[in-house]
Amino acid sequence: MVGFDLIGNTPLVLLKSFSNKDVQIYAKLEQFNPGGSIKDRLGKHLIEVALKENTIREGDTVVEVSAGNTGIGVALAANHYGLNSVIFAPIGFAEEKISIIKALGAKVIRTEQGLGMEGAKIAAREFESKTGAFYLNQFESKHNPEAYKDTIAQEITDKLDDIDYFVGGVGSGGTFAGIAEHLAQFDIESVIVEPEGSTLSGGQAHAHDIEGIGSELWPSFLHETLVADIIKVSDDAAFKNVKLIAKQEGLLVGSSSGAALQAALDIKKHINKGVIVTVFPDGSDRYMSKQILNYKENEYG
Ligand code: PMP
Repeated sequence: MVGFDLIGNTPLVLLKSFSNKDVQIYAKLEQFNPGGSIKDRLGKHLIEVALKENTIREGDTVVEVSAGNTGIGVALAANHYGLNSVIFAPIGFAEEKISIIKALGAKVIRTEQGLGMEGAKIAAREFESKTGAFYLNQFESKHNPEAYKDTIAQEITDKLDDIDYFVGGVGSGGTFAGIAEHLAQFDIESVIVEPEGSTLSGGQAHAHDIEGIGSELWPSFLHETLVADIIKVSDDAAFKNVKLIAKQEGLLVGSSSGAALQAALDIKKHINKGVIVTVFPDGSDRYMSKQILNYKENEYG
């Protein structure tokens, strides 16, 4: 499938309007993957590993739990390799992603909003034991970070050789762990960005509007030694940045990208010189139903 062949090798761009002669901020634009997010890389890798290890073969069914983007990546790769895919997705996340998963050939099973991702995980495990389908399990699979270590992380260091900081969000933690592991060999400091309400750096857990990042559980495959710092970002700051990135850079990104930029700007404030790299995981278009470009419009104008 031609779409599948387009995964990876996304643009890495200098965000000129947020940089100056001393501190530069670069972003890897993951919305340019065929499924529109960084998680295409994960779907491809998890399925290719399972096929290679003979855990699954053509005609089998894979199962995954996702707020949307991983579901899209899994649907794309499953379809490419002649597999069936079933995605367990809690109600409450942007519906555009659900339509895309279905369009790419997967079956979607919605789980109760109040039970969150944990409820979806339980339902997926039940489905796995009842049907014999293979649960890819991005939240616990050691193959999750590998999806990024040899791909996006390598793509970044192929293009830039003077990086000082990397900023990345944590949902499952795979993106951050994979990139941070690769960058550690060059003495680059990796900093987590988390929404207020996410508790990786402590504090009270509560709901947030930033979609795709935030966790109450430390990912099992993320070594603490890889984390130089954790920066908390408010919903307001992240959504305000989404609009600034659109106006100043002509890029339409998701709210986890707005959060990543905020953390990069926080680092910029505290250093005299340096290069900061971050990842913009997806685009605005899949969050129109969530008013991403009109967030608290009356307050920001
Ligand atoms: N941003 C967005 C928009 C996402 O969908 C995700 C994945 N949930 C992430 C960031 C974080 O990626 P990871 O699961 O690799 O931590």
